[in-house]
Amino acid sequence: MNDHTQSIYSSDRNTIFPVVVLGGGPVGLFAVFMAGMMQLKCALVEALPQLGGQCQALYPDKPIYDIPGMPEISAGDLVAQLSQQMAPFKPTVFCGQTAEHVDQEEESGLFVIRTSAGRMILAQTIMICCGAGALVPKRPPLEGIEQFEGQSVFYSVPSGHGWAGKDIVIAGGGDSAVDWALVLAGSAKSVHMVHRRARFSAHEHSVARLQEEFQSGRVQLHAPYQLLGLEGQVGQISVVHVHDGAGGSKSLSADILLPFFGMQNDLGPLGRWGLDIDQQRIVTNPLTGQTSRAGIYAAGDIVTYPHKLKLIMTGFAEVAQSMHHLKGYLFPDQYVGVKHSTTLGNPGSWAS
Ligand SMILES: Cc1cc2nc3c(=O)[nH]c(=O)nc-3n(C[C@H](O)[C@H](O)[C@H](O)COP(=O)(O)OP(=O)(O)OC[C@H]3O[C@@H](n4cnc5c(N)ncnc54)[C@H](O)[C@@H]3O)c2cc1C
Repeated sequence: MNDHTQSIYSSDRNTIFPVVVLGGGPVGLFAVFMAGMMQLKCALVEALPQLGGQCQALYPDKPIYDIPGMPEISAGDLVAQLSQQMAPFKPTVFCGQTAEHVDQEEESGLFVIRTSAGRMILAQTIMICCGAGALVPKRPPLEGIEQFEGQSVFYSVPSGHGWAGKDIVIAGGGDSAVDWALVLAGSAKSVHMVHRRARFSAHEHSVARLQEEFQSGRVQLHAPYQLLGLEGQVGQISVVHVHDGAGGSKSLSADILLPFFGMQNDLGPLGRWGLDIDQQRIVTNPLTGQTSRAGIYAAGDIVTYPHKLKLIMTGFAEVAQSMHHLKGYLFPDQYVGVKHSTTLGNPGSWAS
């Protein structure tokens, strides 16, 4: 590692994690638990501000019926349960930062993970549970939109935004779009909703409340309309142009644009870590969870092998399988066998 790297990344050279789990979806959360059960100190890195992966970001209220032993559980509750299950092991959790680079020190063999927040984490092994890559907001294809992002175009509402008295345009028709229209209508100067059809896919009750806001004029609806272009300067938008797809267009005065078109997966940096990749997935040995680089394991939706099933329960099984092999990699002289939790107890509770 060179001096330059040392200077831009903050790290604690005294903390070396036996396992660093990348990705805090259901499979990553269970990986943290399994690491704890195998008495391996663990850190977790998650790109999003919150844990839970697809379950939390895409369908928290939907019931899941195929988690063994749980006849029905909402995706959000499953994440809450998994978080509770791993909590006794007190993992070090870094949320809101993407693992961007992975290098390996020649002398020590340690992996050096660098995150988008400028953090450097030292790991003996890595367990990649990154789903299909980082979940990133779907960006509308508007020319020059990048120059406004984070200043007047936002894909999620920052806390303490201070948008009272502003002209706000919200694009989309899902839960985020509808819920934020309802919240911001109370304080904004104007709220315009741009949606490509008249029907909203948000929660029924929220849509009913939104209809009342349309009638009161506190929220103005533009449907069927889509985003066409932006005007503004130095990061600040002033006008959002929209069109109806049939030759009609309008220009809306705007201080803030909130495009809420959901999330998409981006394999991004994972593709540059020297791992075998097949069709945007990491190739693993299903018996061991090993990737093509010794010491790096992977589980969950991110992996591929013949007949791979992209299900939560499959990811859980892969984690259990991999974590046993990983412990054997860390302690080659130790016998690593199966220990039933009923016999072992919960090592997370031993310290307290
Ligand atoms: C609508 C819907 C319904 C579903 N219903 C079911 C069902 O009923 N049963 C079932 O078994 N499955 C279901 N699934 C599939 C299930 O959600 C996935 O199989 C599961 O989420 C995979 O878990 P994972 O932890 O591997 O990945 P994910 O849930 O995708 O989590 C991966 C996490 O890694 C993070 N990440 C990615 N790259 C990085 C990086 N470089 N650095 C840091 N963090 C990173 C991402 O932000 C994400 O939070 C459903 C999926 C959808 C979309």
